[in-house]
Amino acid sequence: MTRNATMEKKESMKVWKMLIGSQWVGSQHGKTRPILNPATEKILAEVYEADIADVHSAVENARKAFEDGRWSRKSPGERALALMRLADKLEQNLKSLANLEMQNVGKPLKLVQDGDIPFAVDNLRFFASAARLLEGRSSQEYASGYTSIIRREPIGVVVLIAPWNYPFMMAVWKAAPALAAGNTLVLKPSEITPLTTLEFGRLALESGIPEGVINIVTGGEEVGVALTQHPDVKMISFTGDTETGKKILAQTAPTLKKCHMELGGKAPFVVFEDADLEAAVQGAVVASFVNTGQDCTAATRFYIQESLYRKFLEAFLKEVSKVRVGSPSSPDTDMGPLVSSEQRDRVEGFVKRALQEKARIASGGGRPKNLEAGFFFEPTVIVDVDQTSEIVQKEVFGPVVAVLPFKDEEEAIRFSNDVPYGLAASVWTKDIQRALRFSGALEFGTVWINDHLPLTSEMPHGGFKQSGFGKDLSLYALEEYTQIKHVMAETTGAVRKPWHYTVFGNP
Ligand code: NAD
Repeated sequence: MTRNATMEKKESMKVWKMLIGSQWVGSQHGKTRPILNPATEKILAEVYEADIADVHSAVENARKAFEDGRWSRKSPGERALALMRLADKLEQNLKSLANLEMQNVGKPLKLVQDGDIPFAVDNLRFFASAARLLEGRSSQEYASGYTSIIRREPIGVVVLIAPWNYPFMMAVWKAAPALAAGNTLVLKPSEITPLTTLEFGRLALESGIPEGVINIVTGGEEVGVALTQHPDVKMISFTGDTETGKKILAQTAPTLKKCHMELGGKAPFVVFEDADLEAAVQGAVVASFVNTGQDCTAATRFYIQESLYRKFLEAFLKEVSKVRVGSPSSPDTDMGPLVSSEQRDRVEGFVKRALQEKARIASGGGRPKNLEAGFFFEPTVIVDVDQTSEIVQKEVFGPVVAVLPFKDEEEAIRFSNDVPYGLAASVWTKDIQRALRFSGALEFGTVWINDHLPLTSEMPHGGFKQSGFGKDLSLYALEEYTQIKHVMAETTGAVRKPWHYTVFGNP
C-alpha cells in the first residue's frame, strides 16, 4: 500500500483510541497505524500508536486502581459477579466481535463464531467461578504456640502482551484469571490485530468493571519494551514467539518481574500402524490447517510408522486437496489467508529453503491462482525431508507440514522430542498401553491420544522446554496470577526470653 493511499484513508476513517482509566485517548505524539484486512489487503481501520507517556499513564492508572482496592479488595463473590456480567455482555456481542475478528485476522467466520469467541466467553465464566475457590493450602499450627495461615494475594499491575493469531481469545485467556485473582491490567494486543481487544475494553467498561482496572495500549515492540521495563509493573504474561520471550526475560531482569511465557511450538503427530486410519487422516487435516496453520499447537511434523506411510500419505493428500481456501466470510471456506504479507514471505521462505535441501512438495507450495488479493497460501505438504532439516526443526506458523516415516516406538519418541519446543503432541494408536507409555515419554505440556487440538477451560495449556513456562486455562492459571504469603501468629501471649531461639518449628 502506498503512503498516499494510507493518508487518503486516514482522513475518512475514525481512529481507534486506547483505553486509559475510563477514558478513550489518542496517543500523546499523535502517531497512528493502519490496520489491514488480510483477505482483501485493504485498510480496515486506523489505530493510535502509544508513546512512552501513554505507557506511563496506563500503568499509573492501573497502579492507583490496584492500590485503592476498588478491585483487589472486592470480595471474590463480587469479582465473580462482575466477570459473569462481562461474559454475558461478550456473548450478547458475539456476532459483531466475530465479524471484526474475521476482518482483522482473516479467520473463517465459522471458526471465530463457533470457536474463538464462545470459548473465550466460557473461559471468562470458568475464571469468574474459580475466583471464589481460590484458597491457601493450609491454616494450622506447625510450631507450638503459633498459627500459620497461607494467603493467596493478587500481584498488582500485570501487563498482558498478546499475539495476532487468536487476538480476542488470547486477551481473555490472560485477562480472565488475572482479574479473577484481583489484579489490575495493562493489555497490549499485537500491533496488527488490536480491534477486538479494544472492543473487549469497551464492553468491560459498559458491563461495570471499575475504571483503571483494565487499560489497553496499542502499538508494537517499542510499547512492549516500555511496559516490560516499567518499575511499577509486577508481572508480565506473554504469548508470542520464543525469541521475543527471550528478549522479554532480558528486559525484565533489571526489575526482576514474574514472567509467564506461552511461546512457540512444533507439534508432532505420531501415527502407529494399528491406528484408525480414517480418524487419523481427518484429524490430521484439521490439526494442520486450522487457522491457516497459525496455531502454536498445530500439527506440523507427521511421523507415520513405515508400514502405514504410503497408505496414510495417499489418504491425507486426498483430503488436503479438498480444503477450501477463500474468503473468510463464506460459510464454505475452511482456510483463510495468512495474517500479513510479512507472514506469507516468512512461510514462502521456509518452503523455498526446504526445496533447496531436496525436499519434495506433495501438495500446494504456492499462492492459490484463483485469488487475486489477500495473503493466501495453499495448504502444503512436504515429504522426503530429514529430521534435521529446518522445516522439521523450526516453527513455520503457516499451512505447511512435513510427513516422515519412522521404524519403531523408540525412533518415534526420539524424533518427537528432538526439537527445542515442547508445547503439544499427539499419538494415534489403538493400543492403550503403548498410548500411555508413549505419552509419558513425550516432552510436551499437552499430549492428545487419538485426537489433536481440543482444549477445555478446566485443563491447563502450556509448554515444556523453549515453549515456555506457566499455564494458561484451569486453576493452575489462576494461581499464576497470585503470590503466596505466609502469616505466622504467636497465639499464647508469651514473651520471648532474651535471646531464646525458638525459630525452627520441629528441630
Ligand atoms: P511476537 O512475539 O512477534 O509478538 C507477540 C507480542 O509481543 C506482540 O504484541 C508484539 O508487539 C510484542 N512484542 C514484540 N517484541 C517485544 C518486546 N521486545 N518486548 C515486549 N513485547 C514485544 O509473536 P506473534 O508473531 O504475534 O505471534 C506468533 C507467535 O506466538 C508464534 O511463535 C506462536 O507459536 C506463539 N503463540 C504461542 C501460544 C502458546 O500458547 N504457547 C499461543 C499463541 C501463539
